[in-house]
Formats: sequence, structure tokens, C-alpha cells
Amino acid sequence: VPDDVQNGFDRRWSELEPIGRHGGTGGYRRQAWTAVDAELREWFAGQARQLGLDLTTDRGGNQWAWWGDPDRTPGVATGSHLDSVPDGGAFDGPLGVVGALTAVESLRAAGFQPRIPIGVVNLSDGEGARFGVASAGTRIITGGLDADRAAGLTDDDGISLAAAMAAAGHREIGRDDETLRRVDTFVELHVEQGRALAATRHPVGVASAIWPHGRWRFEFPGRADHAGTARLDDRQDPVLDLASTVLAVRDAAYRHGALATIGKVRLDPGGTSVIPARALAWLDARAPSELAVLGLVEELVRAAVHTDIHVAEESWTPITAFDPVLRDRLAGLLGAPVLGTGAGHDAGVLSAAGIRSAMLFARNPTGVSHSPAEFAERDDCVAAVAALATVLRELTS
Ligand SMILES: [Zn+2]
Repeated sequence: VPDDVQNGFDRRWSELEPIGRHGGTGGYRRQAWTAVDAELREWFAGQARQLGLDLTTDRGGNQWAWWGDPDRTPGVATGSHLDSVPDGGAFDGPLGVVGALTAVESLRAAGFQPRIPIGVVNLSDGEGARFGVASAGTRIITGGLDADRAAGLTDDDGISLAAAMAAAGHREIGRDDETLRRVDTFVELHVEQGRALAATRHPVGVASAIWPHGRWRFEFPGRADHAGTARLDDRQDPVLDLASTVLAVRDAAYRHGALATIGKVRLDPGGTSVIPARALAWLDARAPSELAVLGLVEELVRAAVHTDIHVAEESWTPITAFDPVLRDRLAGLLGAPVLGTGAGHDAGVLSAAGIRSAMLFARNPTGVSHSPAEFAERDDCVAAVAALATVLRELTS
């Protein structure tokens, strides 16, 4: 890996490191459109200025920094997000932004003249941790997330996305075809959120597809009563149904080759001495095939019919297969393995909207992500940045 890539990566990484880091947990609190996020956006703008790139912000709040004029010829854009989940890791998102800036810097230093423009992007609200919709920035500009619905999304304090964006100076929210027209191809570098590369000698992989995934809400009806007086046989305790469903989810996941999680539950009214009137649970299910996910959910719903459980689909995202020609070209160019992922990404949103897209993954030795323990070796990170520079050179020569 060339020295300038190593130095550029180390410098930017150490600049970002303290921003939004929580002293207690060691995790990052970089939720979108907060004061910390404003600091990150200011940092990005400064990086763009230093590299002499033209900075614009679109109607989803995404920051684009172009080398060359993409209104004359659409170009190749690369980047990721800088926001995090609450107490998230340092790598998920920032690796792709730091990598993009560093790759462009090294191409410029080498005297490379791209045939078509190269853009670096900081995508807003990639995690959706504050307003509940992941990849909100790209969903807004592609129209996948309706402008009115986006504006009305609220955080836990009742602050709307429109108000939070307006406070940061962004008043126009909505689909942005002008921005999309500038992007011929999008490449996102991201830390792997799994252990497929850990077992190989490869620090970098190329994405094949983003697994289909969905969220379902289970409602278990019961009858509120006194925990100290209602006889066990007389109770209608919905927590028992909730508990058996949690176990059924794990069992079905094994049989369907899926990942399925009950990550959130709620008991109403929720008192230690009260048998709940109602239990709610949210299921997140993902698998390599749509058949596996839907088969798993169908099985749970079928089982639920006998016990009065109500199941509602809250979201469904079909499989996102990346452009196979581009995928194979990059895998061949880098000599890198091809792998799938269960995590959603902005590159998936842009791909689904018809923009030719690809993803590079950097090796994650433990596979842990969305946690302070998220980690990638520094040498694997710089190898991934060098790979991104190789890809940009290939696509713009
Ligand atoms: Zn991410």
C-alpha cells in the first residue's frame, strides 16, 4: 500500500476519532442532525475544501464533493455515512468516507487525470437511528421515502426530521433527480458486518447482494389482572405466548437458514404486580433468499392463528442484487471474493433506484458491528482504501 494512502488514512482517522465518542461506553453517539453530526459535516466540508473539490448539498441533506463537472458528464461517486447508531462502532460508515477522501487524494497526488468526474459523498442519516428510517438521505433523493412522510418523521423527543434539518440550514426536502443524474456509478466501501472474510487471506471482498429483510409486529392479547390474587388457571397472560413465540422464532430461523431476532418487546400496562393486558414484540428477519424469510414468517403466522396473535408487516425490503457485470469486474480486478450481507446499505437503495452500484467490504475479524467492540485492523483498512483507489482508477480511465 502506497505511503500517501497510509498517511492520509491515519491522519483522517485520528481527526474523526474523538468526535461523538462517549467517555463511558467508548461507543459513538453520532445520530443524524445533532450537534455532533454538524461537527462531522463541517469536518467533511473542510476535507472537500482541502482537496479542491466542489461541494454541494442535495435535497436529502447528502454532501457531495466533486472532482470535475458531473453536470457535463455523469461520474463515479464513492462514500458512505458518518452517523452512527447509539453507542455504535468507529468503522460502520466512516471507513467509507475516510476511504473515499483518501483514495481521491492519492489519485490526485499520482497525477491521475480521470476521464469522467469522481465524487465523494457523505450520505446523511445512514443508520436512521434517530428518526427510524435507515438510509434516509438516499431514500429521500430517490423518492423511496416520500418527502411529506420524511419531513414528518419524529425522534423520541418529538422533534421532526424537517425541523432538525431546518436547524442545520436545509429547508428543501425531497426527490432530487438533478443529483441522481450526476451519478453514473456508485461504489461504497464499508466494514464487513459478518465473518465471511475473517476465515480467508483476503482483507477486501466485493458484495454480491443485500439479503431481503423485513420487520413484523406481533400483538398478543391478554387480560389485565392482579398478580397477587388471580389464580394461575384463571389467567390470560400474554407473556406466555410472547415467550413461546420468541423460542419458535429461533427454532424456525435454524430450519429456514435465516437470521431472526426479537429485539424489542413491550408489555401494557407494564407493572411488576400486574398481569399485562397486552404484549407486543417486533421481529426482524433476514436470509439469503426471499423464500426463506417469507417461509419463516408464514410459519410463525400459521402457528399464531390458534392463539389469537395478531401479526402485522411493518416493512419489507426485497433482495438487492448488485450489478453482476460491475461486481465480477471488480472482483477480478482486485482478486477478491464475492459475498452477501444481511445488513442494509445506501448502495442498496441507490442500486434499487437504478444506479449501477457496487460495494467493497473490509475484513472484520470478529464480525461484530453496531457496538463499541466493532473493529477492523488498520492494515486491512488501508488495503481496502488502496483497493478503492484501484477501482476508481479503473472506472474513470
Ligand atoms: Zn453503515
